[in-house]
Amino acid sequence: MSDAAPAASDPATSMIWTRLARAPALAVLVDLDGTLLPFAPTLEEAALDDAAAAVLRGLAAVGVAVVVVSGRPRAAIDPIRAAVPAAWWFAEHGAWRHTDGSWQPPTVAAELGDLARRLALLAERTPGARLEQKSLAVGLHWRRVDEAERPRLIASAELVVDEWLETQPAYERLDGAAVLEVRHRAAHKGTAVAWVRAHLPVGARFVALGDDVTDEDTFAALTDDDAAVLVGAPDRRSHADWWVADPAGARALLRWLVEARVGQGPPPSAPVRPWTRARAAQPQHPLVIVSNRTPTVGAGRGKEVGGLVSALTPIVERTGGVWLGWSGAERAPGLALAFDPEPPPALATFDYPPGWREAFYGGFCNQSLWPLLHCFPGRVRYVDDEWTTYVTANETYARLAARLTPPTGTVWIHDYHLLLAAAALRRLGHVGPIGLFLHVPFPPRDVWETLPWHVEVIDALLACDLIGFHTRRWADNFLAAAPHGVAGLRRDGDQLAHGARATTVGVFPIGIEPAGFRPPPDGDPADDLDGLRALLAGRKLVLGVDRLDYSKGIPERLEAFRRLLQLFPAWRGRVSFVQVSVPSRAEVPEYAELRRRVEELVGRINGEFGEAAWVPVRYLYRSYPADVLAPLYRLAAVGMVTPLRDGMNLVAKEFVAAQRDDDPGVLLLSRFAGAAEALDAALLTNPYHVDGVAADLDRALRMERDERRARHARLIAAATAPTAAGWADAFLARLAEVTAVRLTSN
Ligand code: UDP
Repeated sequence: MSDAAPAASDPATSMIWTRLARAPALAVLVDLDGTLLPFAPTLEEAALDDAAAAVLRGLAAVGVAVVVVSGRPRAAIDPIRAAVPAAWWFAEHGAWRHTDGSWQPPTVAAELGDLARRLALLAERTPGARLEQKSLAVGLHWRRVDEAERPRLIASAELVVDEWLETQPAYERLDGAAVLEVRHRAAHKGTAVAWVRAHLPVGARFVALGDDVTDEDTFAALTDDDAAVLVGAPDRRSHADWWVADPAGARALLRWLVEARVGQGPPPSAPVRPWTRARAAQPQHPLVIVSNRTPTVGAGRGKEVGGLVSALTPIVERTGGVWLGWSGAERAPGLALAFDPEPPPALATFDYPPGWREAFYGGFCNQSLWPLLHCFPGRVRYVDDEWTTYVTANETYARLAARLTPPTGTVWIHDYHLLLAAAALRRLGHVGPIGLFLHVPFPPRDVWETLPWHVEVIDALLACDLIGFHTRRWADNFLAAAPHGVAGLRRDGDQLAHGARATTVGVFPIGIEPAGFRPPPDGDPADDLDGLRALLAGRKLVLGVDRLDYSKGIPERLEAFRRLLQLFPAWRGRVSFVQVSVPSRAEVPEYAELRRRVEELVGRINGEFGEAAWVPVRYLYRSYPADVLAPLYRLAAVGMVTPLRDGMNLVAKEFVAAQRDDDPGVLLLSRFAGAAEALDAALLTNPYHVDGVAADLDRALRMERDERRARHARLIAAATAPTAAGWADAFLARLAEVTAVRLTSN
């Protein structure tokens, strides 16, 4: 923003701030570095200067509770404490507290040794890198690492951290400025807010100032009566409602608070601005996308450009819409909306309150609905308390969505996490279009009815105007199962009619953005696959790429590869299998168990068949960006996409799109992937029949170029149209159409 320094503020702002300044009980929570103090190269140089100390003392002198909430270690707080004797001090993001004469330690113990050792190894090998260990966190800093060295260091550190986090749900990753930190979830600044609130009179009001992502925890723990002030350019996701340009602005605001608190008449205007793009803009969005979690988007590290993101971004941008969902963090009290208007799409996120990750997300969503909808009744478990949390969570998503859009706005809900949200929205008075897209399969009626609450779910789904599926088969399963048990509900073609109203069911197969995968006309530029090419040494590559999920049939695929080597021994030494498995839901026990099983199988096959110069299976437990996947798909002779069941499966489409028309690889595709409905020119296989898959794999490996080309020519159109964005447009157009019918017939 160029208009950085808040000028004289508007009368409404001054009125709000004067009330705050004169509140009988008032606390000011302030971060140090970047908020009250300009950034200095080292902590030693970042002293609390006299002017800053005087500002804090001035607040204390007029009866304000002064609370410093810093990320610094205790050792960097101790030398400055004496300058503001009345203040309460929190170090290490609230992990340590100095409030009554001595430091109180954190209430949890950290077990970061293993991670710290692994990061220390990286730091040792990279000049300038520095490992910082705190009581409940460890951080790798690279501010002083050579620019050219950074990408490698960052990539390695992210890999180490993400892998470690997979098995450590009590910890979280924080991406700071030139630092990657892993922190215990209990060590955040919101805990300081909770402590201070408990130690001040009831009704005390808070003003909090911060510049950093860690200050968002402070902001999120405030109530609507408090004020969160972002210091610095408001160009990222924030819970703040106000902003000032820099530490000088922060000090000016604090000085103003002192004056306004003791002054009698009207104070001069408050030097602070509302962050209008946030709260003031809330109810304006004509379209709200609601999904369990929002994507991480935009430029920089750790960002994704998955199918749904490319599908929905253009439409959110075009309509001035917003995408609502979980931030990925769990915090008390949670549920405060943070806005990120910058990277398209605009995002509104919130933290789960404690317990939701386990009961709602890990529990009812991923251990009840996911296996149920993917037709694994043997893996399903139903827990009453988890269902109750699911109901609450759906009501909450609906309430937050209703704050973002007028009652006539369009709400597009995504997936199985939010099957009850449409009904909750209607109860809140929403009359506009509501659509729901189920990205997963829908099971046959016998399986569906194992859900103890299947009638309640169908009943709630009838609040939608349009429900979308990827395939005819899932839509038909739904249409056949839905009318049973719900009084007065009947199927009428592709509609479920209930009283005077109808819910339309439609088939909208999601697509990919093919441009990112098609072969470049003048051949692949240099890629990172030379190492793999050398390992292959001319052998044929069989490739699997999936999230590590039991629905993807990875152990079954490995078994089939093993059978290939047994039944068709001529392939020994002539073919290599690479399986990319993207870490997923590791906190759910079954996924951790799956990982062990897959690793064991890989070891067994390599032990059984491997030779000095040939490793039959290479297993990569990590994720790659699309620009690595595309040439990898092209390198493969066979893409094995053999889920036991899958709503669609985009990897199948991406694999086809990536092939060269003149010499394409073969797609060996499960009949039970949604993608098989359109990609019927692939070599279709039954993943439950291991010997059958082995025989089909042999056939795929032997397939002549003419047949490969002929199949590819039929596949390419189906794999590249509709595009992801076209899919979103088609769904929303149909939603507008069916809602118009409802509104005119009412
Ligand atoms: N993917 C990725 N990096 C990887 C592996 C997969 O970006 O290392 C992407 C892949 O390109 C695809 C998506 O993850 O777009 C997986 O979608 P799919 O429909 O196949 O399965 P889902 O994970 O949604 O069940």
